[in-house]
Amino acid sequence: MKKTTILMLFFGIVNLCYSQSEIKEYKVQDSLYLVGDRVYSLYYITPDGVVVIDPINERIASETLRSIRSHTDLPITHVIYSHNHWDHNSGGRIYKEQGATFLAHEKAAANMTPNENVIEPDAAWSGDKTVLETGGKDIELYFYGQNHGNGMTVFRFPEYNAVFTVDLVVPDRVLYAYLPDAKPKQWLEDLYEIDKLKFDELYMAHVRPIGDRSDLKLQIRYFEDLYAATEKAMADGTPFFEIPDKVRMPQYENLKNYDEWLHMNVWRILMEKSIGQ
Ligand SMILES: [Zn+2]
Repeated sequence: MKKTTILMLFFGIVNLCYSQSEIKEYKVQDSLYLVGDRVYSLYYITPDGVVVIDPINERIASETLRSIRSHTDLPITHVIYSHNHWDHNSGGRIYKEQGATFLAHEKAAANMTPNENVIEPDAAWSGDKTVLETGGKDIELYFYGQNHGNGMTVFRFPEYNAVFTVDLVVPDRVLYAYLPDAKPKQWLEDLYEIDKLKFDELYMAHVRPIGDRSDLKLQIRYFEDLYAATEKAMADGTPFFEIPDKVRMPQYENLKNYDEWLHMNVWRILMEKSIGQ
């Protein structure tokens, strides 16, 4: 496997004015970068221009544009939204001002969460897979189903045999709270499908941006164990409303937010099992 060079640039004095965590740039491949703090935007420099995936918000978008301009003067050709949630797709205005075309899966475009900071997509793609060809480079876009939000897209960069997935694999942490706007069963099924993709490196949009297939495998195992532990508590006759506090998964105690969120993760599975959603 290619050894990844991680370049962490601190964007200087501007960030000292912010109380939020520091925005960092990660150079993950020759022309592929991630920029963010606890949530990450990705950009790909092609010979014709720059493709940005998820502007995130105004603050991260402006630091990302600064990072882009430190490497190239090429135009921003595309902004692609990973899905319909505005914690990932706000702040695109500065890219629109640069003339970028905004793209999303049709199911994301039709269900954009309303927010004045979100630029509506100019174009939508449909189906399970498409390839964006730009500047002689390909970006493969995959849609698997309604797993988290709407129109969730997984990105593969054949040039680097790398995959970028947003929200579907979050490393080093239990699942987010009560899994808002998610369909857990479909999510797990789609993780098995993502595991069929060819890739060496896996980039992710929360907590830790750079990983590999072991992060995907751990996310799958966590889901499987969460289902198994919840089902066992039900089979043992644990009173329904006591199940979330009774289920323990000590093998995951080291994950972030284990104490705060595990019971919410269990509630989500219980709800799916009790009402079918
Ligand atoms: Zn989301």
